[in-house]
Amino acid sequence: MKSLDDALSVLPGFGSKSVEKFLKLELQTVGDALLYYPFRYEDFQSKSVLDLMDGEKALVLGEVVSPAAVQYYGYKRNRLRFSIRQGEVIVAVSFFNQPYLADKIVVGSQIAVWGKWDRSKASLTGMKILSQSQDDLQPVYRVGQGIKQASLVKLIKAAMEAGYLDLVEENLPSELLQRYRLLNRREAIRAMHFPKDIEEYQQALRRVKFEELFYFQLNLQSLKSENRRPDAGVLITYDQVALANKIQQLPFALTDAQQRSLLEILSDMSSSSHMNRLLQGDVGSGKTVIAGLAMYAAYTAGFQSAMMVPTEILAEQHYESLSQLFPELSIALLTGGMKAVIRRDTLAAIESGTVDIVIGTHALIQERVNYHHVGLVITDEQHRFGVKQRRLFREKGENPDVLMMTATPIPRTLAITAFGEMDVSIIDQLPEGRKEVKTRWVKHEQLPVVLEWIGKEIKKGNQVYVVSPLIEESEALDLKNAIALEEELNAYFGKTVKITLLHGQMKNQEKDSIMQDFKAGKIDLLVSTTVIEVGVNVPNATIMVIIDADRFGLSQLHQLRGRVGRGNKQSYAILVANPKTDSGKERMQAMTETTDGFVLAEKDLQMRGAGEVFGTRQSGLPEFQVANIVEDFPILEEARRVASQIVSDPSWKLNPNWSIIVKEMKRPNHLD
Ligand code: ADP
Ligand code: MG
Repeated sequence: MKSLDDALSVLPGFGSKSVEKFLKLELQTVGDALLYYPFRYEDFQSKSVLDLMDGEKALVLGEVVSPAAVQYYGYKRNRLRFSIRQGEVIVAVSFFNQPYLADKIVVGSQIAVWGKWDRSKASLTGMKILSQSQDDLQPVYRVGQGIKQASLVKLIKAAMEAGYLDLVEENLPSELLQRYRLLNRREAIRAMHFPKDIEEYQQALRRVKFEELFYFQLNLQSLKSENRRPDAGVLITYDQVALANKIQQLPFALTDAQQRSLLEILSDMSSSSHMNRLLQGDVGSGKTVIAGLAMYAAYTAGFQSAMMVPTEILAEQHYESLSQLFPELSIALLTGGMKAVIRRDTLAAIESGTVDIVIGTHALIQERVNYHHVGLVITDEQHRFGVKQRRLFREKGENPDVLMMTATPIPRTLAITAFGEMDVSIIDQLPEGRKEVKTRWVKHEQLPVVLEWIGKEIKKGNQVYVVSPLIEESEALDLKNAIALEEELNAYFGKTVKITLLHGQMKNQEKDSIMQDFKAGKIDLLVSTTVIEVGVNVPNATIMVIIDADRFGLSQLHQLRGRVGRGNKQSYAILVANPKTDSGKERMQAMTETTDGFVLAEKDLQMRGAGEVFGTRQSGLPEFQVANIVEDFPILEEARRVASQIVSDPSWKLNPNWSIIVKEMKRPNHLD
């Protein structure tokens, strides 16, 4: 009996030896091969050169107007040249090291050249001469590792010719196929590999994208509805009066957006369903105090809470500000760099329950940490933690309520994909009195002017960050740069300005004492690597200078800028950069045009793609085979709508209409 699980070696023309190489693409069975779609098509339809962009590869059809001439230079190196006319345009064509093509160039005849267009020279560097009968469309598969496109095509063709396509079963209910006029699965698979024309390919693509996004959404939505079950989580019956008093005593009034978010969080906590909520708010919008109030509420109900943050500086900062806000609570700090004795005592206190709130770094998820009746876990800057770390944290209690915070604004596109199983609260408002950070982009040549101005600002009592350039991913080089920068600045300012260097390789105590001194105003100018990127809060610092700012991504620049403008003084961000690329210029431009983190995130996403911005693995962002969550947003939304409709019926799994999808549903890895 034939089955889609048959090994590839059953296919005629393929032996057990010859299919070994396909393992590198994780292709083991005939079914795997059929579902291995090309990621794009080379469009071999002739284009008008007037429509081509510089550097674009395309098929250009024209009449040969000058005979081929071959010019030799050096050993075995030569160039064949001729001209073709397309409409009114004469195109110069060159082929390198293929002199034998000369026979094919006949003046007056039509020719089809596949090549790369150079707009300024109106010339085409030829790669292939195609016969007019050549198929218009050529699939391009992800290959590499020594596997050729052609051998993959041959493999898939063999699978189809052997009749395996007939074994493929439909995995979408007919109701959905009809509603969205989708190709059936067999047709779609055939047309993904061997489309009759571009229209058919587009139809096939639409179907497989829908399928992929639909199953993705179905999993998210069903997870979400499981969380909503009334017995899925902990019930935290907090003391409303005590909490209201606490809010009254804050040195400031909460913004409307903070109040709204807090209410959403409290209502999740005080219900017995499971909270899985993302709190989004731009840098400086005041997330920490909201997290603190949620933990305070848990405390009044007799629960312990824990908050995990990505860096020690941040952990210490939160520890301090929460200790100030809640002097009546017992708050513990747990980090990797602590002395063994203190650490042991802290662990014991956490386990016995004398501690109400634990703040810490990754140390919080280590095996030896045992919590006591933990009801709420919070991660700050959640995208900095991997999926696994977040899960370990959650599993430290008995399904505690989970709050995740992020200052990297997540565009709507991603919010419903990567984080679609979560509820989202947004603080879309900054506290009153904040002045927008003024951002200037200057060239390196203007640095002396900037330094002179900085000197004056420091005299007025303002403090300054100078972030040193980023050199690839190498911390050692970053450090070298930072040291050099510190020396330069010292040479420039002399003794009048107190300058200190902060970097990631320092001991924690050292970092800590530098930050304390900076906060206390004992340091005027802090030269730093990007260790200060997240969370650091020194309201008196009003100037952020970023050297070689074009080396940083938009999200990172926005985070760095967020270190200033945290009090009510006017603050400035100075981007020092002579960008060499268009995208570098575009980023500098974008930074000076807006301080809205959402706008910048959306822009960043367009410029770099989701994987780059959020780090696919890191953020738990799903990887799709064919769909692209940015481009295919409309399909994604439709898939979400229909998936949530289906799941909202509590007995959907018993509904015969959906029996196909119940069978097919698998929970994707990134939700583990
Ligand atoms: P982030 O959202 O970046 O974590 P923080 O919680 O660190 O922001 O808050 C930034 C600063 O604003 C802190 O000094 C905090 O005390 C202050 N703050 C928070 N909420 C308010 C408010 N409603 N009014 C005035 N200041 C506030
Ligand atoms: Mg924060």
